[in-house]
Amino acid sequence: MTEGVFGRETGHEQVVHCQDPVTGLKAIIAVYSTALGPALGGTRFYPYAREEDALTDVLALSKGMAYKNALAGLDLGGGKAVIIGDPAKDKSEALLRAYGRFVQSLGGRYITACDVGTYVADMDVVARETKYVTGRSPDDGGAGDSSVLTAFGVFQGMRAAAGHRWGTTDLAGRRVGVSGVGKVGFILVGHLVDAGAHVVVTDVSGAAIDRVRAAHPGVEVVPDAETLVRTPLDVFAPCALGGALNDETVPVLATEIVCGAANNQLAHPGVEKQLVDRGILYAPDYLVNAGGVIQVSDELHGFDFARAKRKATAIFDTTKAVFALGDAEGVPPATAADRLAERRMSEVGRLRSILL
Ligand code: GLU
Repeated sequence: MTEGVFGRETGHEQVVHCQDPVTGLKAIIAVYSTALGPALGGTRFYPYAREEDALTDVLALSKGMAYKNALAGLDLGGGKAVIIGDPAKDKSEALLRAYGRFVQSLGGRYITACDVGTYVADMDVVARETKYVTGRSPDDGGAGDSSVLTAFGVFQGMRAAAGHRWGTTDLAGRRVGVSGVGKVGFILVGHLVDAGAHVVVTDVSGAAIDRVRAAHPGVEVVPDAETLVRTPLDVFAPCALGGALNDETVPVLATEIVCGAANNQLAHPGVEKQLVDRGILYAPDYLVNAGGVIQVSDELHGFDFARAKRKATAIFDTTKAVFALGDAEGVPPATAADRLAERRMSEVGRLRSILL
């Protein structure tokens, strides 16, 4: 295990490079901040082309978790981890256990969970080596699949955005595009169909499309994400990987609202202004997708689904509050969300420094 000191450039408290030659594990754990509590955030298992890409991703994602957890009102800092590899080929019990030992070695400064490429069963394996893990199986006192409340929270944030834009939170008859129907997107489609929306989907995986078609025969399918961003919609919800809002997509988007379901949708900070210039209302990703971390963090207090769902329902009010702050301070919603999160981090940090 080697520690990288990135503090000065990126503001992270700790970045740990983990390598286990026996299992081939290569991972990076990034702790952005523990000011509000242990740094909770998932583990992404992804075949990054270069280690540099993995580092860039984990640094951005861990910062995002600190903001997300603060805005969700959780007493948790933010962190994230990436395991570099192809989950279909490289994932093994031995490798996950080796990873779990690295998590344990951080002594609770970092608490892990699921993310892209990791599942509840993986967390059960990690839990054999560390107690600093959430998102385990319900049989074992775990919170289970966090996609359930992630999707529910995104739906609440989308309703709040609709209310802000159209004066009604009712999504019946609205055309909603969902890009990526694997974990979160699949469940989100169910909420949207129940709400009477016309849902348009796409996914790189044919199996994911078959599954969503079987469950919801009324959904419209378009061949790829490039097509979906050009499709006339009322709401676009990118549920795949980050960076869906970029210099190529924003100019061609044909939607009134973007609800940033997956993390880090703005490819760079300038994209926010491009959305404003195009008159598109953006419901920030880490604000509306906090349901997952709300679900898994409840596990730390003895999991109670009803309590976690109540907390995720509050995403509706927080999203409204972010839009209201943006209007009051004359800034776009993503900046307003950052400001609210930063205020909570500095306020709680200040109180802690007085009390401790
Ligand atoms: N991976 C989630 C996120 O990005 C957090 C943990 C989880 O939902 O299991 O918010």
